[in-house]
Amino acid sequence: AVVSSLEGGVPSDAIVLFDGTSLAAWESVNGGDAPWTLGDGAMHVVPKSGNIRTRQSFGDVQLHIEFRCPAVVEGKGQERGNSGIFLMGLYELQVMDSYDNPTYVNGQLGSIYRQYPPLVNPARPPGVWQKYDVVFIAPRFDASGAVVSPARFTVFLNGVLVQHDVKVKGPTHIRGEPQYRAHADKLPLELQEHDGDLVAYRN
Ligand code: MG
Repeated sequence: AVVSSLEGGVPSDAIVLFDGTSLAAWESVNGGDAPWTLGDGAMHVVPKSGNIRTRQSFGDVQLHIEFRCPAVVEGKGQERGNSGIFLMGLYELQVMDSYDNPTYVNGQLGSIYRQYPPLVNPARPPGVWQKYDVVFIAPRFDASGAVVSPARFTVFLNGVLVQHDVKVKGPTHIRGEPQYRAHADKLPLELQEHDGDLVAYRN
């Protein structure tokens, strides 16, 4: 198959989930339209509005996504520019402002939250757009619900490798050992609204 991918453009076989002009591909995880706002070609977290997810479901994906943490720094550690990208709504790739902002290693930007710290920290300063390029392989389950192969992530952050084919231990949990439960082959991609932190996404 021939795919055209011109500099500054979108690969011809990509599914565009956000083109800067519409939230139509997204909905609230609580039902109804996405409650975030549009502006400057980006979508912006609205405090207390909750997470949003794609209307479409996905399994294995290559994902490009850009994000920006607030230019005005408030709080520290996990309170600074926190959000997250949940593949299949279950497996969190952490988004937070990790520029000169220590926190627990597997909770910083580029981590598979609470499971794998990033290999390095290529975070850009607050208020600057950053980008993730992600290869996610969905987990496989057999008919009894047992895991045949775990979910896997390879992640580039700002063009730098931060996760290389790590095997996810189960859905993201804040505490305790993650545990797989069999789920559908495809599920929506979800973006986190974390304590009202004013993170924006685009492209
Ligand atoms: Mg988060």
